[in-house]
Amino acid sequence: MRDETASVKSYDVSDEKRLEALYRYNILDTDFDPCFDDLAELGAYICEMPIAVINFVDKDRQWFKSEIGLGVRETALDVSVCKHAILQPGLFVVPDMTKDERFANYDLVTGEPHLRFYAGALLESSDGFPLGTFCVLDYQPRELTAQQQKALKTLARQVMNQLELMKINAEQRETLKDLERSHKLLEIEASTDELTQLANRRAITHALQHELSLMQSMRRPSSALLLDLDFFKAVNDQHGHLVGDEVLKEFAAFCNHEFRSSDLIGRWGGEEFVFILPGSDIAVAQKVVTRFQEKLKTKSFTKARIQLSFSAGLIELNTSTSPKSTFKKLDDLLYQAKTEGRDQIICAAN
Ligand code: GH3
Ligand code: MG
Ligand code: MG
Repeated sequence: MRDETASVKSYDVSDEKRLEALYRYNILDTDFDPCFDDLAELGAYICEMPIAVINFVDKDRQWFKSEIGLGVRETALDVSVCKHAILQPGLFVVPDMTKDERFANYDLVTGEPHLRFYAGALLESSDGFPLGTFCVLDYQPRELTAQQQKALKTLARQVMNQLELMKINAEQRETLKDLERSHKLLEIEASTDELTQLANRRAITHALQHELSLMQSMRRPSSALLLDLDFFKAVNDQHGHLVGDEVLKEFAAFCNHEFRSSDLIGRWGGEEFVFILPGSDIAVAQKVVTRFQEKLKTKSFTKARIQLSFSAGLIELNTSTSPKSTFKKLDDLLYQAKTEGRDQIICAAN
């Protein structure tokens, strides 16, 4: 029996567009969900049936999002009444399957549990594809009242509303993830020096602020170094700016290699670099930086085999000194190192 008011559309169960529409909802093989179980229960109650099923017709199976009184979650399509039901719109009713040649030989009809009555309301996607049915079944021949028929179709629409909401939620979650990813990328870009890929001035200032607050909470000493490469203008003058750039890049990689991964290294600007050494008091920091200075003397950069030295200021951080005053102090010490002949590290308590 067909709903006479609806127009008949012809869809093959394995119609690719229909299956694509079904898969867009990502509903197949998901867990039981009280939202759908409530609807199935209402369907059984309103139609006064022992069995109610929210059924999606896949390519070669029918899968049940919710079922009352059936006890299985999927069956093969060759014993499916719903595969017929989804080929026509509205309500599909079989008052007695033993008297319908399409279903009379089905195992579930001839044997246990001896199904007789079937009524299925179409589950239709927002773009008009038949995805499955909201169906109720009984062990005896039956009819549905006009009100029950109407209720069954309403419940089918509610299932689809729920599915649409879940799809929109999932899409919004994806959009949010995309936004978070681009936000992270932007954050990295905004805090990274393009040439050396070290932290830029903004990021290293932020890192110093952070370290000053960590020192307090973790009760640990920390030190900071500001270095400036000696006579770097001469590197550019002799080898060109591009080689100068390459030297800065290689120097940054060298620093990354020589310091601990917990140390923070940033490009302060030009050929000046800042190092924050968490957990190192001035004595430890002095040893670490002197070792670095010595290692640098054994190293040359780029094919042009350019050797570098630096002048630097080194201080133990003090939580009562602001980042601005800390950098000023480092700058003064660096200036002193330059004026006193370069290639040296001047240390001071902060
Ligand atoms: P000092 O020992 O006094 O520090 O001498 P210096 O030559 O290093 O100092 P100065 O301040 O006179 O020059 C710094 C040089 O660093 C000049 C500038 O062209 C170069 N420099 C700064 N940033 C870059 C960069 O991104 N790439 C290159 N290739 N050179 C840079
Ligand atoms: Mg310099
Ligand atoms: Mg400089």
